[in-house]
Amino acid sequence: MTAPDAHALAFDLAMQERDAGALFIVNHSGGKDSQYMQIELLRHVPAAQILAVHATLGESEWPGALEHARQQADAAGIPLLVAEAGKSFLGMVEQRYQKRPDVPSWPSARTRQCTSDLKRGPITREVRRYATAHGHTRLVNCMGMRAAESSARAKQRPWAAHPEHGKAGRSWHNWLPIHALSTDEVLSGIQAAGQHLHPAYALGNDRLSCVLCLFGSAGDLTRGAQHNPELYAKYVEMERRTGYTLHMSRRSLEDLTGIPVPAPCAAIPLEAS
Ligand code: SF4
Repeated sequence: MTAPDAHALAFDLAMQERDAGALFIVNHSGGKDSQYMQIELLRHVPAAQILAVHATLGESEWPGALEHARQQADAAGIPLLVAEAGKSFLGMVEQRYQKRPDVPSWPSARTRQCTSDLKRGPITREVRRYATAHGHTRLVNCMGMRAAESSARAKQRPWAAHPEHGKAGRSWHNWLPIHALSTDEVLSGIQAAGQHLHPAYALGNDRLSCVLCLFGSAGDLTRGAQHNPELYAKYVEMERRTGYTLHMSRRSLEDLTGIPVPAPCAAIPLEAS
């Protein structure tokens, strides 16, 4: 676990950046953690120094995630950038399969190509463009990861310089403003602010972003499949085609959700006349 004073130190450093005029970027997925992170940030940083950015995954993300992030940004009076990759999630899997059918085609916990290519890369590109266009030389990139979510996330540092992204006369720091908070604190904070969650939570979801995620619980995957049957069928079809599975458990989606997808009918040959 991260030492409590590491969070206090991160906060102090972030406030020094605020006082130096830095731009704070809210990575807003439309999920509860980014939603609460924005609420929390607005308590300490003027709205004029905040920019929200949403990496859209098109058909693969929960419908309404972008709109939810936009509604939050509009209500707070902060601009929202939409970052889009030049490829889709399934397109990325297809590409990998075409190149190397002998290795797993889907992203995994170790090779999270989905996060790097579909989220982090496009967000970094859009934020850099915005910073250049608006003359921002100090950037604080805020993400809603929490230590309580997983042991990997617990090991993340709440404050870190990112010299690679900060080049070209810019400073770039990554900050995890709600890293120390529990799920209950996040949910009660959103409620106390009088805001609503994305509707997928009312269905029972724990997490929001991709409808079908390699880290998703069986419950989240099942709800994703039930409410997005066409997308689910495309994923199942891709699992069959590649011979590999989306989920890190290596169980197929049909096995995890218990929802079968009929195999496409083979073409019926015409009788010779
Ligand atoms: S939500 Fe899951 S599947 Fe989607 S980009 Fe993130 S890790 Fe990958």
